[in-house]
Amino acid sequence: MGSRFDITAVAKNDTLAWKAIKAGISEVKRIEKLISSWDPATETSAINRNAGIHPVKVDRELYDLIFRAKKVSRLTGGAFDISYASMDRIWKFDGSMKKMPDSLEVKKAASKINWQNILLDDKDHSVFLKEKGMKIGFGAIGKGYAANRAMTVMKKLGIAGGLVNASGDLNAWGVNGISKKWKIKIADPKNVDKALGFLEIDNMAVVTSGDYEKFITMGGKRYAHIIDPRTGYPTTGIKSVTIVCPDAELADALATSVFVLGKKNGLELINKLANIECLIVTDQNELFSSKGLKINYY
Ligand code: ADP
Ligand code: MG
Repeated sequence: MGSRFDITAVAKNDTLAWKAIKAGISEVKRIEKLISSWDPATETSAINRNAGIHPVKVDRELYDLIFRAKKVSRLTGGAFDISYASMDRIWKFDGSMKKMPDSLEVKKAASKINWQNILLDDKDHSVFLKEKGMKIGFGAIGKGYAANRAMTVMKKLGIAGGLVNASGDLNAWGVNGISKKWKIKIADPKNVDKALGFLEIDNMAVVTSGDYEKFITMGGKRYAHIIDPRTGYPTTGIKSVTIVCPDAELADALATSVFVLGKKNGLELINKLANIECLIVTDQNELFSSKGLKINYY
């Protein structure tokens, strides 16, 4: 998935701990084969290739993931949209972009972003992207899903506790051998080697989406690697979003959504959702948190 995964297992002996860690790794690899849109051999690539042509019957697991992604789109008023990938090749966040892309080209590609044009047929679990050139990608939900799945296979092996950290999208559960709860530090976007505070959690996901690893600066403006589906342009104004909730996949998707919604509408949405909290760091380094967030600042 182009990301580093750190996996920890707490178990009564080394053999069991290693077994759990290996099971977690295999599970992440398996999911990558399902959802990668770079690998032409995946079902996801087949869906994209056949956009505007015909529906593609896929594995139930992939179908269900797309179904849940569409649910988040509905929940966020379209801020979250896996068809953001229709912007393919227009934005590059690897430092190779020197000037803004042609606005007409942005407009043309952005017109293809529309989660309502991802048509699902439950009868044969097929997926059809209605428009030619439309594409889907799981960059904003895949790591959270993988963290959930890795946790599930590890738990099944009966270990006492564990942690799966998919580059900042993490699940922590059970005992950790040090303290009662897991202590999770949140990186400070001003100085990423330092933490701005920590959370104490158990059986929770903590997901941070930050633009301090991938962003572009043009015309004095800083753009995150997240696309606003309404315009096709990258979002501005927020440096990082942390979501705390029981489900890493939902947390992953919501962190991305808050970037698009912006601090005001983002907080409004999170405050309405039960058992979901968030912390936002703006590009001015101001901190905003949802009502129920229990964070210890340094
Ligand atoms: P991080 O890379 O910090 O984990 P995210 O979870 O927010 O960040 O994922 C960002 C990725 O999500 C982008 O690189 C892109 O692949 C994808 N993406 C960009 N914009 C959107 C959007 N509006 N909805 C869904 N996915 C998006
Ligand atoms: Mg995300």
